[in-house]
Amino acid sequence: SSNLYKNDICSKLPSDNPTVSSQSEFSILPSSLKSLSLDGHIFFEDIQHAANDFGNRYHFLPAAVLHPKSVRDISSVVRHVYELGNTSMLTVAARGRGHSVAGQAQTHQGVVINMQTLQEQKMCFHTGDLPYVDVSGGELWINILHEGLKHGFAPKSWTDYLHLTVGGTLSNAGISGQAFRHGPQINNVYELEVVTGKGEIVTCTKQHNADLFYGVLGGLGQFGIITRAKISVEKAPKRVKWIRMLYTDFSIFCQDQEHLISSDNYFEYVEGFVIINRTGLLHNWRSTFSPKDPLQASKFHSEGKTLYCLEIAKYFNPEESDTVNQRIEVLLEELEYIQFTLFLSDVSYMEFLDRVHVSEIKLRELGLWEVPHPWLNLLIPKSKIHDFAKEVFGNILTDTNNGPVLIYPVNKSRWDNKTSMVTPQEDLVYLVAFLSSAVPSSTKSDGLEHILAQNRRILDFCDSSSLGAKQYLPHYNTQKEWKAHFGSKWEVFRKRKYRYDPLAILSPGQKIFQKEK
Ligand code: FAD
Repeated sequence: SSNLYKNDICSKLPSDNPTVSSQSEFSILPSSLKSLSLDGHIFFEDIQHAANDFGNRYHFLPAAVLHPKSVRDISSVVRHVYELGNTSMLTVAARGRGHSVAGQAQTHQGVVINMQTLQEQKMCFHTGDLPYVDVSGGELWINILHEGLKHGFAPKSWTDYLHLTVGGTLSNAGISGQAFRHGPQINNVYELEVVTGKGEIVTCTKQHNADLFYGVLGGLGQFGIITRAKISVEKAPKRVKWIRMLYTDFSIFCQDQEHLISSDNYFEYVEGFVIINRTGLLHNWRSTFSPKDPLQASKFHSEGKTLYCLEIAKYFNPEESDTVNQRIEVLLEELEYIQFTLFLSDVSYMEFLDRVHVSEIKLRELGLWEVPHPWLNLLIPKSKIHDFAKEVFGNILTDTNNGPVLIYPVNKSRWDNKTSMVTPQEDLVYLVAFLSSAVPSSTKSDGLEHILAQNRRILDFCDSSSLGAKQYLPHYNTQKEWKAHFGSKWEVFRKRKYRYDPLAILSPGQKIFQKEK
């Protein structure tokens, strides 16, 4: 449909704002969907869970939820919807773990595909010159880690939190502290199996069906459903030296972070975070970290200043511990953190990688996990990071403490520009993640409206100061905004949509294209 590609179509959708849709609004489910022959099951009742996500702000009730047992199931459903053509408004949303924050894995009165039930073939590790793991698109990264460690192998590039699916993170990018070395997760894939918006099952690599391969990586679910992936792995280390240190001077903090990602790459992981208006934080670290100099560290007081914490990690095996310690000591001398604010920890590789899950368990116990999460993730070019920090940490966020604010540089020379993912123009880019929670007993400064207003101010500042920033895990309501987001990549993105999902069936919750009746 030609209208599909007009500007601003999405702004006319009823679903512009966080909302709740109900079954009674539409009743358009073709009975033919019920009579499809499937290896798995399709459910039409008790499916409210698919109308929620980690963001807990957008709620679109689907008409059905497919629990596929095979790729054939996924292909049959998508092909069926495709063949109904424009006579139906049915759309299809693959749902990984539903850890999006703005309805991206939802569909209003369409079919949600619960990717986690797709377990047709077992996860398989292949060793050799280029070792890889062959996994289902619905597999959780934490399961890959568990299984990999049995074979002594693990993926190279991670996310901070591993209870996410392969298909979900590969549709975005998958960025964590290893990305400066290995690129994001989308740069560590050898092969994908994809079900396109026409229901075709296609295998693609950099050489074979390369256009689809690159399109799907970072493609926000627009061109196909990832049903399998071959992901590059390396020998897994046993342990990790995990180190934190503090700065009050933002320039020195950045200088040290940039030094660490551009020097001899001794460390495998470099991240950092901003500490605004917090007391007792260092005390909380004590369960995991020990200060190098406990007596001096206990005398450290931030005096209300904003602090920047540099976080680095070195992987090692127990027999290398002494040499690793010596080398780390030398390298730390090159850094200019505040004296006596060095905190060290020695943990298993599993403990290090699954660290956010520990917080999840605590927050769940307190009933603070299932609250609204108005997250904002930005990529800021290095040349503008100081302007950004001055305004955002100095003016906009001064009274806030709604969740972690991560900040770390990544080196784009390790990223493949052919994927659908959009980044700022420069080679060095900072990821800044505002991971806010709107807790129920909110005072004015931590309520949802306040956080959303802050996010708006940050985005407005980026725009008005022409920082050249890009949203990561982007969320927009109009095609005009999406066009601006994709910039020079928009034409390719649009053409790929037309080629692989011409009826705009897939991942409607991204609100990039709209199916036409
Ligand atoms: P979903 O939210 O279910 O889906 C995301 C999108 O992809 C939807 O549009 C959906 O339709 C589509 N999709 C899902 N599965 C498939 C598939 N198989 N094929 C095609 N399309 C599909 N991200 C980072 O990069 N780095 C981090 O460190 C990080 N930390 C996080 C920590 C937490 C606590 C949370 C909640 C999220 C974090 N994320 C991080 C974001 C995360 O990568 C994205 O939210 C991702 O989309 C979640 O994966 P999911 O499997 O739940 O996908």
